Amino acid sequence: MAHLFVIAGHGAGDPGACGHGFSEAERVRALATRVKAIGGDNVTLGDFNMDYYQSNGIATLNIPKDWQIVELHMDSGVETARGAHIVIKGGFDPDGFDTALANNLAAIFPGRASKIVGRNDLQNVNVAANRGYGYRLAECGFISNLNDLTVFNNRMDKVARAILGAFGIKGGNTPVPNKPTVAPTPSKPSKPQPTYKGEKLYFEYQVKAGGKNYPPVKDLNDWAGAGDGVAITDIAIRCNVGHVKYRVHVKGKNWLPWVDGYNWNDHNNGYAGCGEPIDGIQVYYDTPSDYAAKYGWQKAQYRVSTLEGREYYDWQYDNETHSGQDGYAGKLGVAIDKFQLF
Ligand SMILES: [Zn+2]
Repeated sequence: MAHLFVIAGHGAGDPGACGHGFSEAERVRALATRVKAIGGDNVTLGDFNMDYYQSNGIATLNIPKDWQIVELHMDSGVETARGAHIVIKGGFDPDGFDTALANNLAAIFPGRASKIVGRNDLQNVNVAANRGYGYRLAECGFISNLNDLTVFNNRMDKVARAILGAFGIKGGNTPVPNKPTVAPTPSKPSKPQPTYKGEKLYFEYQVKAGGKNYPPVKDLNDWAGAGDGVAITDIAIRCNVGHVKYRVHVKGKNWLPWVDGYNWNDHNNGYAGCGEPIDGIQVYYDTPSDYAAKYGWQKAQYRVSTLEGREYYDWQYDNETHSGQDGYAGKLGVAIDKFQLF
């Protein structure tokens, strides 16, 4: 049995890959936490607040040379790509730990032709090899594939035990509490909830930009964001009457699923975004019929300013695509720094 040192990939502001509303940095930390909870004293966790790549943390690592290191990641690619694999130093023969880990992970996340890949272009792989550490990087399935992600989320203890088993660590028999996480459905049908109690409709919204939260804005009291060309990465929207749903497009990637919650702590449905610059926003408002009878049917009216030109684009109404409307606010490929909605 080996003593296992677990590094969770990315972090310190870098969310890693992003898929279906989840970020890689957060998911691999959740997995590492389970590996430690089950493996107990046979496992040591690296510093979750550190990005071992950015800080070149393996260069200054001070752990016994007979400990084994595994660095956890999730892959990203086209939505159909799936399966786990591990990366070791190019030219090295896989040891027994590598082979066992690759087989165990591939049994849970099948799909890759090569379960073990040798590479010479990855800093942490190279530094660990130079320092004589037993190290491998594990890509635990694709975060961009709903199948892999759902298995990762719902069978996390199985994945943790597969990792531990590869190093001969059995894990305690005492049940360890675990809060299951359910992957969000790709797009949920919105159900209008008539909540009209006589108030006039308003929207409240807030964003994260440059790693910081900005205070909520109500209608056109202000705009949300840091401005100054700092890209907005996440957005949360609520309304007091009726139902609003919204989604964002991650720059260089895809539309994330529609959400309708308003809570930074709920990464399934509480906000749209995953820590990366967004370049498109869609908002859709459902008017309760009793409200419409009094005030007329309402639409979400919203606009953004972008890092290109730094001026507001035209107002967008719901997801309309006629009469010069694009269907969303923003310009794909150009990050957004201000957002307004009423
Ligand atoms: Zn990664």
